[in-house]
Amino acid sequence: MPKFKRCLHVKNDGTVCQAPAMRRRSCCYFHIDVRRRERRKQKARMECELRRQGEAQAAIALNLLRLRNLIDKQLLSKILRELCVEGECCE
Ligand SMILES: [Zn+2]
Repeated sequence: MPKFKRCLHVKNDGTVCQAPAMRRRSCCYFHIDVRRRERRKQKARMECELRRQGEAQAAIALNLLRLRNLIDKQLLSKILRELCVEGECCE
């Protein structure tokens, strides 16, 4: 049995890297960096998606407020609370 652990990263072709893992880590130096970059990209995508969702909710709320004279006030209030956009809906 080797004195060091092997990298457990599964490559795109389905094979395991097997390079020597960094001390107290499950991956080699290269794949620790690859995984760190992947996490950063995933975090950025999630933040972007949340921002988009927030903007979409704000746009819906704004358009509903423009139609407030045509919509039942209780229903409008309920919808705006559901959208949870800061401002009139979260009173
Ligand atoms: Zn590796």
